Amino acid sequence: MAREYLKKADLTPASGASDVSAIVQGILDDIEAGGDAKALEYAAKFDRYEGNVVLTEAEIAAAAAQVPEKVKKDIQFSHANVKRFAEAQKATIEDFETEVIPGLIAGQKTIPVEAAGCYVPGGRYSHIASAIMTVTTAKVAGCANIVACSPPRPGVGVAPAIIYAAHLCGADKIVAMGGVQGVAAMTFGLFGLPKANILVGPGNQFVAEAKRILFGRVGIDMFAGPTDSLILADKTADPEIVAADLVGQAEHGYNSPVWLVTDDRALAETVMKRVPELIADLPELNGDNAAKAWRDYAEVILCADREEMAATSDDYAPEHLTVQAEDLDWWLDRLTCYGSLFLGEETTVAFGDKASGTNHVLPTSRAATYTGGLSVHKYMKIVTWQRATRDGARPIAEATARISRLEGMEGHARTADIRLRKYFPEVNFD
Ligand code: NAD
Repeated sequence: MAREYLKKADLTPASGASDVSAIVQGILDDIEAGGDAKALEYAAKFDRYEGNVVLTEAEIAAAAAQVPEKVKKDIQFSHANVKRFAEAQKATIEDFETEVIPGLIAGQKTIPVEAAGCYVPGGRYSHIASAIMTVTTAKVAGCANIVACSPPRPGVGVAPAIIYAAHLCGADKIVAMGGVQGVAAMTFGLFGLPKANILVGPGNQFVAEAKRILFGRVGIDMFAGPTDSLILADKTADPEIVAADLVGQAEHGYNSPVWLVTDDRALAETVMKRVPELIADLPELNGDNAAKAWRDYAEVILCADREEMAATSDDYAPEHLTVQAEDLDWWLDRLTCYGSLFLGEETTVAFGDKASGTNHVLPTSRAATYTGGLSVHKYMKIVTWQRATRDGARPIAEATARISRLEGMEGHARTADIRLRKYFPEVNFD
């Protein structure tokens, strides 16, 4: 049986591509030429903010004092879990050396990038968890300079809990600036900040486009579009939980796709009836986002069996993938394209988004076909080195000279020749 669409999306996040790129390029050019003053102009224009940009210790302490103790405990709990996971991740990349041929030893070494710029979105929601995810991983990786940058709310500045989280997780500087101007401040080293070597963190289309344009001058974690989520559910799934999970992810934004893939028509029909009811019960702004996401971007797909479900999921390559079905080990083994996988009803995407330890900065828009999400590894340069004895160098030099001459690279060949003549003067290599 071919996939049957019980609900098909009218739009994809790529629909209606606009002139965002030209706008962002213009702002970046302006700020690069005009420096701090120009960045401040854009902050006043887009965020109606004219306060201090790089927060002082007194401002950080004042923000922390505003955060209720219970919230601090939750942030500490999430930070501890993200840190533990990141430390385990770091232990998976090891420096090594190996004797490639007798006398030639080559090795791998990992070196953290010097300066990390962590963008913490804050336009619509206060993304406290994004501060935890990006700053903690940079710290565990060993970055020496970590800047956290987040948009100030008009009149009030950056949300106190974001400031508290960024500070707790190890940010060396916390910057009240959002959007393109925030990204520019970190990249160009405005306001006395270190110039970022890598920019990480989610953000809206202006932030994502700024990172894309700057890539090459600076490293980036990934190009991120609107968040997307897919649920694989069979007859054993609880439709009420499936519906709640779809709604929870549709809340992200009006263009955040959510997809249900199932082999159980009855389950699909129950979920499709429940989703609009749950959306109607959300607070107004959240409900508005979720309603548009469900109406325009959501899909419900009926498959013949679990193999077709898995193949469909891999085609969609979702950012977040949830399995609520029998035989979780089979799914873990079979699925190949996702940013983060949530196996079984007892965990859910929001756990990973907020507190369970895995990172929530993940590949969207099918980027999971070629990359995973933010990890300690993204901040680490995996570099190589080698050294050789003279005997070890001999066969390499001979091969190098021949390959270089076949390529027409005489200068390369002579770097091999000069060594052979020096180390083995008694041998004729012609
Ligand atoms: P944001 O911080 O990304 O953007 C706010 C900034 O956008 C403002 O500071 C402003 O300068 C700029 N801006 C707004 N309108 C502009 C315009 N017309 N021209 C130029 N600049 C403009 O916050 P947001 O808008 O709430 O977006 C947050 C995004 O981050 C959402 O898309 C959300 O889905 C995403 N997110 C993703 C994850 C994930 O891991 N996938 C996690 C958290 C958030």
